[in-house]
Amino acid sequence: MKISLLFILSTIFYFSVYSQKPALLNLKYEQNYTPTYYEVIEMFKVLDANYENATLLENGLTDSGKPLHTFVINNKNEFDPVKIKQQGKSVLLINNGIHAGEPCGIDASLKFADNILRNKDGLSEILDNTVIVIIPVYSIGGVLNRSAYHRSGQTTPYETGFRGNAGNYDLNRDFVKCDSENAKNFNRIFAQWDPDVFLDTHTTNGSQHQYSVTLIAPQPDMFPPTQEKFLRNKMLPSLFGNMKKGEYELIPYVSWMYPDPKRGIKMTQESARYSSGYASLFNSYGMMTENHVYKDYPDRVKSAYQFIEVLARFTSENSNEIIDSRKKGNEETIATKTHSIKFELDTTQYQEIEFRGYEVDAKQISPVSGLERFGYDLNKPYTARIKYFDVYKPTDKIKKPKYYILPQAWKGVVNRLEWNGIEFSRLAKDTIIEVEIDYIVDYSSPEKPYNGHFFHQEVSTRSEVQKIRYYAGDLVIPTRQKKVKYLIEMLEPKGRDSFFKWNFFDNILDSREYFSSYGFEENAIKYLEEHPDFKEKFEEKQKTDPEFSKNHRAQLAYIYNNTEWAEKSFKRYPVGRVF
Ligand SMILES: [Zn+2]
Repeated sequence: MKISLLFILSTIFYFSVYSQKPALLNLKYEQNYTPTYYEVIEMFKVLDANYENATLLENGLTDSGKPLHTFVINNKNEFDPVKIKQQGKSVLLINNGIHAGEPCGIDASLKFADNILRNKDGLSEILDNTVIVIIPVYSIGGVLNRSAYHRSGQTTPYETGFRGNAGNYDLNRDFVKCDSENAKNFNRIFAQWDPDVFLDTHTTNGSQHQYSVTLIAPQPDMFPPTQEKFLRNKMLPSLFGNMKKGEYELIPYVSWMYPDPKRGIKMTQESARYSSGYASLFNSYGMMTENHVYKDYPDRVKSAYQFIEVLARFTSENSNEIIDSRKKGNEETIATKTHSIKFELDTTQYQEIEFRGYEVDAKQISPVSGLERFGYDLNKPYTARIKYFDVYKPTDKIKKPKYYILPQAWKGVVNRLEWNGIEFSRLAKDTIIEVEIDYIVDYSSPEKPYNGHFFHQEVSTRSEVQKIRYYAGDLVIPTRQKKVKYLIEMLEPKGRDSFFKWNFFDNILDSREYFSSYGFEENAIKYLEEHPDFKEKFEEKQKTDPEFSKNHRAQLAYIYNNTEWAEKSFKRYPVGRVF
């Protein structure tokens, strides 16, 4: 027995060493060079041509007119997501170059693809349980717009792309509104692959500390209980712990609570306009690496690479548990009667983490202006235990209806539901349905556009039950489906990144019909005669409200708004709820 086991082990060792092939790609990040768009695609083509178990696919266009690629790595010549899922494999999706000036992930993913395919250090065993899908470059227009003068605080790589894509969109605000072709096709890719784990790679200049890579983790409180526990107890501790075993340690993204991180930092909770928040709508474990801009580019690439490897290994080693936790999570999401739509940080709960920072010098003298500025003393590194606030509590809940009814007239919304694979049926014939419907009472909007929109905030509503006529072809959307979080967050006007807030329903916010102070008078008289109680109220107001008594139009409006002539659909949010 002992001999045969030894024989098997030595054979495995022999083959794993033997099967390690030479690298095919020549990356130059050590020389502070990141490849151009064309070089990136050419390198993935080389890998595609050399390995049967990997393929470069086109997934529709981007705003630049060039295709959005995915590079799929399996352990055999099978790239159909449905078949792969049927085989019980997990899917890790990695998105790069969303902000084209932050290219570490582009280099790191190229290196990772090359290494896993040539089985460097036995990496290819990851593929036994997990399929890796890489978006080589997401903001293609941004990467094509290459210059030494983007990102003024970043010295390397010497040339990078630009933050806006070809349509000047910040793609990390576009995941649900989908103004860009990039986001539209990303939604489709996400629906097609339904990734269990998702990573979006970035670079940050938001703080100064001793780490090359930081993590915006999936915020556990946005997940159903099984997944919340899995994240807090297993996934996040493992990712941080496994990074610690390598050259580069990982810390949570430094999200400010105080002017000095030494006093504590908080976990961020991203809404759906951001990639990780979008992923959480589908109970997918979505996260962002934020590499640290003040570290050398080679370190940034190598630390991003290390994280990709750690994440891929974790995903593969825990593949069944990840898949099961999402399956349970989806069941829990479907079963709940309410959905938490608003959260706030719980400042009473925190854990302590080790943090290696630099002492804050809030009164540093600027060499340029000679004036005081906020800065850090790089000669004073420290290691400290700091508070990390990572719990959010719900502050507002939505009662989940059985169905939403969406008139087909709102095409932009219908399209987005389709891109995301939302299940719905259509009314076979014109039908009057009793629904709960909202009126928009108030909202605020900025004076200047934000990412191409006048994003509404502070939305307040009131509800009414009405019988509304819907037409053949209007959408009946059941909430008994696993993508119900997307539905609620997008269709409820108070959702953090709802379609209402992103201006998809602005057409209800001004009235279409009016009354003429002259033309309506006859009907006003008739109405008063037929409604003596109202007439009494009206005359009382004439007597007691001096402003009102002197304003002809206000008096007519008072009557008009009480009648059947008043425009019912003005400010009426058109998505009905059926309970
Ligand atoms: Zn970024």
